[in-house]
Amino acid sequence: MKVGIPREVKNHEYRVAITPAGVNEFTRSGHQVFVEAGAGVGSSITDEEFTAAGAKILDTADEVWDAADLVLKVKEPVAEEYHRMRAGQVLFTYLHLAASRDCTQALLDREVTGIAYETVELPDRSLPLLAPMSEVAGRLAPQVGAFYLMRTGGGRGVLPGGVSGVYAAKTVVIGAGVSGMNAAAIALGLQSEVLLLDKNVGRLRQADAIYRGHLQTVASNAYEIERAVLDADLVIGAVLVPGAKAPKLISNELVSRMKPGSVLVDIAIDQGGCFEDSRPTTHADPVYRVHESIFYCVANMPGAVPNTSTYALTNVTLPYALELANHGWREASRRDPALALGLNTHSGQVVYGPVAEAHGLPT
Ligand code: NAD
Repeated sequence: MKVGIPREVKNHEYRVAITPAGVNEFTRSGHQVFVEAGAGVGSSITDEEFTAAGAKILDTADEVWDAADLVLKVKEPVAEEYHRMRAGQVLFTYLHLAASRDCTQALLDREVTGIAYETVELPDRSLPLLAPMSEVAGRLAPQVGAFYLMRTGGGRGVLPGGVSGVYAAKTVVIGAGVSGMNAAAIALGLQSEVLLLDKNVGRLRQADAIYRGHLQTVASNAYEIERAVLDADLVIGAVLVPGAKAPKLISNELVSRMKPGSVLVDIAIDQGGCFEDSRPTTHADPVYRVHESIFYCVANMPGAVPNTSTYALTNVTLPYALELANHGWREASRRDPALALGLNTHSGQVVYGPVAEAHGLPT
C-alpha cells in the first residue's frame, strides 16, 4: 500500500504522524512511504532520517495526498487541505469531528474513509490513542509549575525540592488518572511534597502501592480540596469525568485565600477546566493572574514538546496503521473491534453515532 505523511499545517502544530522507526516498519512489510519535505522538522526529525529509513520525500502536500491510499496525520484536515482528499482514500488521524461541522462535511463530500484516533476504544473503555498525550501533559505540568513558581516566573520564589534544612514546596495533584499519576511522578522526582486526591479510592490504592508512603493520598471532596489547596504552592488539576465538562473544584473565593505567588496548572482545560477561573491559554501567552495566584491553562500542552509527543503518539498509532496497511481498513476493523470503533466516516456517510448526533445527521 502507498502510505502518505503530509506536513501538519494547523497553527502551532509541530508534531508529525510518523517517525523513522515507523517508516522502517512499513517498508519492511512491503509498503511504500511518502513523506512531505520538512514534515518532521518541527519534531526535530530530518528528511535525511526519513530517507535513510526507506521513505521517499516529496516536495509538496499535493504530491503526498495524490500518491497515498492511506494518509497518516496528527490533526484533522484544515480548509486548505480539504481539496486534496479523494474518494476511497483512508485517513487515520485525530479528527474530533463532533467539534467541526465543516471538517465533517469535507470528509463526506470527498467520500473519505475517516478513522479517528480519539474514538479507537479498548473493551475496558480506555482510549489508547489519547493516553500518551495525557502522559505528556501530566509530566509537563510540574515542570511548567516549577518555572512559574520561580520569582522570575512571577511566583512565590520557591524551589520544588527545597534544599537541606529548607521545606520543599507542596504540590497538590487533583485526579489520579493517566495525567495525574504522571504529574505526581515528576513532582516527586523534583522532590516536592506531593498530595494526590481522587474520588476513586481504587486509583489512590494503586498510587499507594507504587509510592509506598512517598506521597500522601486523600479521598477527594470539597473539604479536603480546600484544606490541601490553602497549603499548596503548586496545584495541578487532572480530573476527567468521561463525556462531561470538568467539575469546578476550586472557586474564585478559594483562590483568593491561597498563598500569594502560588501556581495552578489546569490540565483539564480542554474539558472546560476544573478551576472556576480557568480559561484556555496558548503557548504564546500561557499564564494570567487570579488574585495573587498564577493560572496556566494551555489546552495543547504536548505541543510544547513535539519531539517527545511525536514519538509517544506514533508508538501507539503505528500498530493500528500497520494493520490498516497490511489488511485494508475493512479486514483490519473486522480483526480488531477497538480499531473498528475508530471509523467515523465512509463513502459520504457518518458512521459514528456521537458525531452524527452532534450534527443532526443520519448514521
Ligand atoms: P483519566 O480518566 O485517566 O483520569 C481522570 C481522573 O480524574 C480519574 O481517576 C477520576 O476518578 C478523577 N476524578 C474525576 N472527578 C474527580 C473529582 N471530583 N476529584 C478528584 N478526582 C476526580 O483522565 P486523563 O487522561 O488523566 O485526562 C485528564 C484531563 O486532561 C482530560 O480532560 C484530558 O482531556 C486532559 N488533557 C489535557 C491536555 C492538555 O494539553 N491540556 C493533554 C492531554 C489530556
